[in-house]
Amino acid sequence: MQDLLQFKSVSRRFGGFMAVRDVELSVAERDVHCLIGPNGAGKSTLFKLAVGTYAPTAGSVHFRGHDVTYDPPFARVQRGMSIKMQAPSVFRALPVRQNLNIAMQHHVSLGELPREEERLLNLLGLSADATRLAGELSHGQQQWLEIGMAVALKPILLMLDEPTAGLSPEETFRTGELVLRLASEGMTIVAVEHDMAFVRQIATRVTVLHLGQVFARGSVAEIVADPRVAEIYLGTPQSV
Ligand code: ADP
Ligand code: MG
Repeated sequence: MQDLLQFKSVSRRFGGFMAVRDVELSVAERDVHCLIGPNGAGKSTLFKLAVGTYAPTAGSVHFRGHDVTYDPPFARVQRGMSIKMQAPSVFRALPVRQNLNIAMQHHVSLGELPREEERLLNLLGLSADATRLAGELSHGQQQWLEIGMAVALKPILLMLDEPTAGLSPEETFRTGELVLRLASEGMTIVAVEHDMAFVRQIATRVTVLHLGQVFARGSVAEIVADPRVAEIYLGTPQSV
């Protein structure tokens, strides 16, 4: 499988502090790749380097064979990346259906629009709520709507920053089902996560960050079985 997204020796410094240090990372086509690690590990910084919020201070980022290191987020979106940031930013004063409609406008032909809307509403489990204002939805439903707005762009790579933040275990599981459904349709997904149940449910590959560096990588089974990974989460000192 071809690599869709690649980090080559990527570092990001804030003043004298190296938040991300010399990261090599490849996301293959059709992977569901989870980025995990303790607080402050550099996960969100790496995510922002992928989507273009930050440029690296060293190294390069490649997407679909193009060097996008200094491309702004919109240019990456045009190349097929779609981003769901952590806090939901749906149009609260507009109905659910219209939120999707706005997101789809430039990506779906007028004739296809109604059918595509129904398909997305159904996928998100929001068919019964199509005419409600987005601001009236539960936090979980708003997260799904926001994922739906990212999916409406028909991306090749869907980037999710903590998609289960603030969700109940039941809502988290349903979010996992949604991610698996999108993956089964051929979408490549990168998720920053800390909920291990969710990671077990969805991930085909896992990269563990610690102190800004890649600490471990592998399948979920390999990562879960790695005692060194358990140690960094528990915060016990590592034996040398
Ligand atoms: P994570 O998402 O894994 O919890 P972050 O990527 O948010 O970690 O942060 C990694 C480290 O970089 C933290 O120590 C954080 O304080 C620092 N950091 C992140 N963003 C900035 C910034 N804009 N300026 C200064 N320090 C930052
Ligand atoms: Mg973070």
